Amino acid sequence: MLYRLPLTVLLFLLSLTTAYAAPAMKALIVDGQNNHGNWPTTTQMMKHYLEDSGLFTVDVATTARQGTDPNFKPDFAKYDVVVSNYNGAPWPKETQQAFVDYVAGGGGFVVVHAADNAFGDWKEYNEIIGLGGWGGRSEKSGPYIYLDERGKLVRDDKAGSGGHHGAQHDFLIITRNDEHPITKGLPHQWMHVKDELYDLLRGPGENMQVLATAYADPKFGGSGRHEPMIMAIEYGQGRCFHTPMGHGNDSQECVGFITVLQRGAEWAATGKVTQTKVPEDFPTADKTSQRTFGEK
Ligand code: ZN
Repeated sequence: MLYRLPLTVLLFLLSLTTAYAAPAMKALIVDGQNNHGNWPTTTQMMKHYLEDSGLFTVDVATTARQGTDPNFKPDFAKYDVVVSNYNGAPWPKETQQAFVDYVAGGGGFVVVHAADNAFGDWKEYNEIIGLGGWGGRSEKSGPYIYLDERGKLVRDDKAGSGGHHGAQHDFLIITRNDEHPITKGLPHQWMHVKDELYDLLRGPGENMQVLATAYADPKFGGSGRHEPMIMAIEYGQGRCFHTPMGHGNDSQECVGFITVLQRGAEWAATGKVTQTKVPEDFPTADKTSQRTFGEK
């Protein structure tokens, strides 16, 4: 029947096909200040991973290198998901408010590694990310939250600072919720490439699900607790995916990290995950798996 269609109709149908193939969602990575000097590289890595999912186009918004940047005013509302690779000075008040309004109104947020060190005194930010470390965090920030030996969630109000890690090493990620869209269908346990294993994080942890943990082994200087590694937080109408993984470039080359970032960003943006296929090179419980990213 196609030969009977006028050319204009054919062109219209073709444009629909093209539109369908293009990434449907928009992501924004925010960066510019971080105590991790490799942040320009990790921003490019995460940008590539999100684009590689085929779901997102990615913009980057970068602050001035020091101090509160009065010109940092990204239009958060334009995006389906905002990814933070930022650990630095407070954003302007107006930008803070725009960010809270964006998440509360149904926006998605992704917080990776040291981005959970940022903004220790910003109440709403800490509610959005659930848990944080350093940045002056203490018992005033909320309880320590971890899993005990039986897998039970513990909220510990004991006094003390938030945020710590032992020596970097490969460590095992254990899924604690196999039904959540971010973790569903992934191997129950997998070995993460050498990374800082954040422990003793603390925060309000409200409306937060701990989807996976890692044991912070005292033999590497860890807390001896099963520490949250993949978290899903709901805030107003919005969602936050939080992983404290991702210190060095190697740890962000981990296929487990990449997969969870892609799934977590989609979940934060939409509440669903369509990327259900597990990559063939996904790590196993015994073996890490890494994809080399460009120049190191
Ligand atoms: Zn680090």
